[in-house]
Amino acid sequence: MGSENGKKRGVGRRAVLIGGGVAVVGTGVLAREELARAWWRLPWMEKPRVDGELDYRAAAWTAAHQANSRRADRPDDYRIDRVVIHVVQGSYATALKVFRNPLHEAATHYVVGKDGRVAQMVRELDVAYHAGNRDMNERSIGIEHEGFVDRPQDFTKAMYEASARLTADICRRYGIPVDREHIIEHAEVEGTDHTDPGPHWDWDRYMELVRRERAKLPA
Ligand SMILES: [Zn+2]
Repeated sequence: MGSENGKKRGVGRRAVLIGGGVAVVGTGVLAREELARAWWRLPWMEKPRVDGELDYRAAAWTAAHQANSRRADRPDDYRIDRVVIHVVQGSYATALKVFRNPLHEAATHYVVGKDGRVAQMVRELDVAYHAGNRDMNERSIGIEHEGFVDRPQDFTKAMYEASARLTADICRRYGIPVDREHIIEHAEVEGTDHTDPGPHWDWDRYMELVRRERAKLPA
């Protein structure tokens, strides 16, 4: 039965690929099967969304303008296996403001403030334009941090801790290993001309915090 099925499916698929009047018998069933498997790719069948819904409970929702991201259905259409660390070159308020601007052409999923506040601006299932590289945008979650790359005093204890909790939670939910291959800086993204988070971002300290937070969460 299995092989007969397979044969029919094979013929059906070829017919569909060729197109035209050849595809007559059996393609209805095939099409339904294909659709059932790829339902999330169809705009009218995408996962239900609720306004203001958060992926990270400790965040506050502030929507970025939809022009700064692309609707998707991650992790079903794109696997999420990277977290990209950014520094805003500005304040928390500035980050929220520019990401709400449709002309900015960029936004991250999250913004972390010096006081440890976290805003979610793009749903994780969507592709935010933050890394300046299409492949990286499609596979990553972007986290922006308040402050300037040349001002180490901007990177506060509260910010490191809040960001580490967020990154640990993301890593848990998508099974991302807690290491520097998977948690990267914007400056490490191929083709970027950005230098953030810069030389004052304390990676040893940050990764230690992420590891500690990750250990507190379920496997
Ligand atoms: Zn950046």
